[in-house]
Amino acid sequence: MTAAASAKEAAARSITGTEASLLELSRLIHANPELGFEEERSSGWCADFLDTHGYSVERGTCDLDTAFAATAGSGPLTIAICAEYDALPGIGHACGHNVIASAAMGAALALALLADDLGITVRILGTPAEEGGGGKILMLERGCHAVDLAQSEAKLSRQPCATSRPPAPLAPRCHGLTLRRMSGRWLPSES
Ligand SMILES: [Zn+2]
Repeated sequence: MTAAASAKEAAARSITGTEASLLELSRLIHANPELGFEEERSSGWCADFLDTHGYSVERGTCDLDTAFAATAGSGPLTIAICAEYDALPGIGHACGHNVIASAAMGAALALALLADDLGITVRILGTPAEEGGGGKILMLERGCHAVDLAQSEAKLSRQPCATSRPPAPLAPRCHGLTLRRMSGRWLPSES
């Protein structure tokens, strides 16, 4: 088995092992919809989840009460995954942010276990007010997205990113782009 295949298998095992608690979190957020910038309980549950699973969690990051940034690993390539958890006015979680939040937590657990092997730092960004409030924009402007790759779960679920540190079998790739290191940062390569 290749290193990439065994890493994927280990990731799948860790997610399967926490399936019940991930589903519970998703249903809890769904049953308690909160609008943008008011996601006190939803963001708190996600932050607690990461805290419990070994992440170093900064709550209220970027001067946003319902944002957080959680970090695991210390490798030179920093990968961010965005967790969304706000609901829509009047119709609750019709967009499925409860699922996006839980999927981000699952990816967080899997990546944290592999962080040392892959040479990555994992940053889970709790991004409030996706439904029109522009929470990610505020976080971007305030420096929270100072990472090499950032991805939201909605896109990850359709087209997974895989990465490992060269000269491992896979060069870092994301959405069809091969990355190369320039001036200390991973940037998309033309090839
Ligand atoms: Zn949405």
